Amino acid sequence: MPKRMHKITIAIDGYSSTGKSTVAKRLAKELNYIYVDTGAMYRAVTLYALDNQFIHKKGFDKKSLVAHLSQIKLEFKFNKEHGFAEMYLNDINVEKDIRSLRVSSFVSPVATVSEIRKYLVKLQREMGKNKGVVMDGRDIGSVVFPDAELKIFLTANPQIRAERRLLELKEKGFEGDFESIVKNVVERDRIDSTRADSPLIKVADAVEIDVSNIDKEEEFQQVLNLAKKKLDI
Ligand code: C5P
Repeated sequence: MPKRMHKITIAIDGYSSTGKSTVAKRLAKELNYIYVDTGAMYRAVTLYALDNQFIHKKGFDKKSLVAHLSQIKLEFKFNKEHGFAEMYLNDINVEKDIRSLRVSSFVSPVATVSEIRKYLVKLQREMGKNKGVVMDGRDIGSVVFPDAELKIFLTANPQIRAERRLLELKEKGFEGDFESIVKNVVERDRIDSTRADSPLIKVADAVEIDVSNIDKEEEFQQVLNLAKKKLDI
């Protein structure tokens, strides 16, 4: 089989709001690959926890959430009109709800729970088992697919990431003030990088791209070129 026919696994990890999902989505489209937004899965579990009062004023009831994991059905369904897959939680489209600041505020503590990670990593491996997948998240190159042929690690300074996030939220019709968004982005990165299970790290064989001073188009072109090199096209 010529090298270009080979399907590979592409892992895109990095800090929040570095444009991971935009770039991963576009790359998957370009290569005719499956795109998996693993952040959406952690967000959907968090929404479930909020809706079922496992997260409340007094704290986070991890035990009950873990006990209910088998009742959380997650699916990506392709939306032809929008041209990308949307997250469904127990058959309900939650694509918009999972992007709210309410969910963003609790998702990182939820993502520290090992049982939840184990549950989601298993689903992610299943989704990518035939290769031909672009998956973005925090632990794709380190834990989910340590043998991925191409690993990319995106970074940018927090101010720029918060600006991107604000724009993204506005485009989706959410209101948000800059200060709370900066705070959330910084806090999520802190929790994600310091947790005991699968912390956000740049693995040795990942290519790091700092997107602070490049626009989305250039970011995409750099990632596309790396993929083309791997595929020999
Ligand atoms: O990618 P996104 O910003 O939507 O991810 C939301 C949160 O989900 C992250 O801040 C992180 O806490 C968690 N996450 C994770 N591992 C992944 C993807 C996301 O811990 N692979």
